Amino acid sequence: MREVSLRDSNPEHAGGGASNQPSGRQRGFDYLIVGAGFAGSVLAERLAAGLNKRVLVVDRRPHIGGNAYDHYDEAGVLIHRYGPHIFHTNAQRIVDYLSRFTEWRPYEHRVLAQVDGQEVPIPINMTTLNKLYGLNMTTEQEAADFLASRAEPVEDIQTSEDVVINGIGRELYQKFFRGYTRKQWGLDPSQLDKSVTSRIPTRTNTDDRYFTDTFQQMPKHGYTKMFEKMLAHPNIKVMINTDYREIRDEVQHDHLIFCGPIDEYFDYRFGKLPYRSLKFEHKQLDQEQFQAVGTVNYPSEDVPYTRISEYKHLTGQVHPKTSVTYEYPSAEGDPYYPIPRPENAELYKRYQKLADETPGVTFVGRLGTYKYYNMDQVVGQALALYKRIEEAERGPAASENAAHGQSLAEQAP
Ligand code: FAD
Ligand code: UDP
Repeated sequence: MREVSLRDSNPEHAGGGASNQPSGRQRGFDYLIVGAGFAGSVLAERLAAGLNKRVLVVDRRPHIGGNAYDHYDEAGVLIHRYGPHIFHTNAQRIVDYLSRFTEWRPYEHRVLAQVDGQEVPIPINMTTLNKLYGLNMTTEQEAADFLASRAEPVEDIQTSEDVVINGIGRELYQKFFRGYTRKQWGLDPSQLDKSVTSRIPTRTNTDDRYFTDTFQQMPKHGYTKMFEKMLAHPNIKVMINTDYREIRDEVQHDHLIFCGPIDEYFDYRFGKLPYRSLKFEHKQLDQEQFQAVGTVNYPSEDVPYTRISEYKHLTGQVHPKTSVTYEYPSAEGDPYYPIPRPENAELYKRYQKLADETPGVTFVGRLGTYKYYNMDQVVGQALALYKRIEEAERGPAASENAAHGQSLAEQAP
């Protein structure tokens, strides 16, 4: 990673490796990328290393990594500034790609929910049901029968309320989902697309992992270290503390890739796309361990936060102190979550159409495409966009090589 001053937007002066075979014009950059999170960093790396493009990445925050940014706090504990980020995926090609920039540490996330004065596993499983109802079920069939006896079939499942009530009934819905969702989104589950609560399955076995993906590992030295390696290419310049609006007229570039909010780019022409925000309260505690698992959820509306996460479970760090983060949902603040509901999807479609009609700019990432994506999905989206760019430049055959691990530019002569 290199940081350049605004005055030095010519990569020749910034000491970049672009002098080999300059593509595009001599001055300025081939690509200006707004946002140094997963979307922007993956594209910067691919365009620089795969197509020898000269890339400037800007981010208005004082760091790279976007929402996945992690750092050591004053106590020396590795924490995630924007809440717990657990990497999980079923896509081996995404693991293969990221493994170029990091080693991994196995970690399977476990979450407990505080319900009726007890801490019980979420996703709901056989153990959850046994604990809550004082039962002693031992077979999956028993648990399935129990849930079936409580489920209240909903004919046309549309909302986040429908999908849960249909699966497990109103009582469990109220204990685990209603309050949490109302706090998290500022909306009742009946006002949210079914995709939101569908993220959380129900299990009839005793599997108490939050995710069941084939790959569940954390970057061994943290996310930020991984991003540093990704952006370390000599063709890539990075400017942090820099809003796109400050530099858009000063930095010459052929293409723009925008990973910020799409409605902001268009000056909210059709109105604001709703995003949900969070306030993070980070605490350092003078004790070795705070809670039994990485995250404890608090569905009750009497508790103002949704969850507490303790990072040492995620990172495996051994330290006499520990650090935790409380998440307080909020209408104001940085845009963290696109809000999945039909009217928002309609508004996004209008922006998407405008984006399609606007030459020279491509939108990508969770904010750029208004999609409630996990990290691996954003990496997948960015790699797919890169593939399209590569094919447009070199034809499909070259991109096939890239998909198998190396682009032509990286192959030995
Ligand atoms: P971002 O990381 O948001 O990056 C966009 C960047 O663009 C930001 O850094 C922003 O500062 C910058 N930017 C925006 N506008 C401008 C501008 N005008 N000028 C300059 N810079 C600008 N995913 C998982 O897979 N597992 C998890 O456990 C997980 N946990 C999460 C927990 C929380 C609390 C949140 C909020 C998200 C979580 N996610 C998780 C999702 C994950 O954070 C995202 O999928 C991923 O970080 C999105 O990457 P991105 O590049 O699209 O966006
Ligand atoms: N959810 C809930 N209770 C829980 C956990 C999740 O109601 O104990 C609902 C809530 O609406 C939440 C959604 O399921 O926003 C998705 O949960 P997830 O843990 O995937 O949220 P994220 O990690 O993306 O914030």
